[in-house]
Amino acid sequence: MTFGAIFDVKRFALHDGQGVRTTLFLKGCPLSCPWCQNPEGLRGKISLRWTSSKCIRCGQCVTVCPNEALSREEPELDIRIDHIECDSSGFCIDECPTAALFFDGQRVSAGKIADEMLRDRDFFDTSGGGITLSGGEPLAQTAFALEVLRLCKEAAVHTTVETSLSASHASVLSIMPYTDLFLVDQKIVDPTMHHKILGTPLEPIRENLEFLLAEGASVVIRIPLIPGFTATDENLRGLGTYIASLEHKPRVELLNFNPLAENKYRLLNHNWPIPRRTPRYTRDEMEAFASILRNTGVERTMYDN
Ligand code: SF4
Ligand code: SF4
Repeated sequence: MTFGAIFDVKRFALHDGQGVRTTLFLKGCPLSCPWCQNPEGLRGKISLRWTSSKCIRCGQCVTVCPNEALSREEPELDIRIDHIECDSSGFCIDECPTAALFFDGQRVSAGKIADEMLRDRDFFDTSGGGITLSGGEPLAQTAFALEVLRLCKEAAVHTTVETSLSASHASVLSIMPYTDLFLVDQKIVDPTMHHKILGTPLEPIRENLEFLLAEGASVVIRIPLIPGFTATDENLRGLGTYIASLEHKPRVELLNFNPLAENKYRLLNHNWPIPRRTPRYTRDEMEAFASILRNTGVERTMYDN
């Protein structure tokens, strides 16, 4: 049996591929995008988390932990977690009266989670939808992702993988026969800035993308518009020039900035790198970004406002 670490299952998703979809979010990602919409998915390891706003500072969790993995920090008596000492027993979670402590994921078998997702197949059949693997980076757990995709394909359900393609060629090759659609992120065009900001090289990502296109895989490129990072004229012009130069040209979707993630960062005590209360882009701004791409020769540019 193949097991994997997941952090969410979203039913009735409308933006993760065609039709109505059930999306599985896998933990772990080789990229470290400072604006990641799902920061709980960055680490592959399932970790204990603490929510300051829910905590009444009773200290019960510190008392009950057998490994002395928790401590209270003056002056606010904030809970500090020693992730090396924590063995994930969950005693502190059971004892917490306000649900301020929780695990940021769970371990599941591919068979069990595929069965759960396939329960929505009536909705898939009537809407032309299916299942989507997202994350994190699904290819960071290739064996688990492959098994879920295989089981869903065998059940004749449409499969989509949302990926950065920051993975080995062998990983990409292995899931190809079981993946109907690849939603491929493209973020930063300059290789040096890509490595510096996202923590991974751009070259293997491009090699995988060009391989998929050459093999005739169904690919949509998605560009998340992040203020100050990806949503600049220079970056979009560069991405457009690269996409227009591809022999097999995929469709491109621009994804509007989603400020809701700011709240997640606050709850997880992480730094949010965008100025507070930055709004989504307006329809006119989205159209201006799309025009930059079209002017480089990318004809099939879509956006959803
Ligand atoms: S999960 Fe277990 S080991 Fe980890 S902090 Fe809670 S009680 Fe301690
Ligand atoms: S048991 Fe819960 S409410 Fe009490 S200090 Fe620990 S995290 Fe806070």
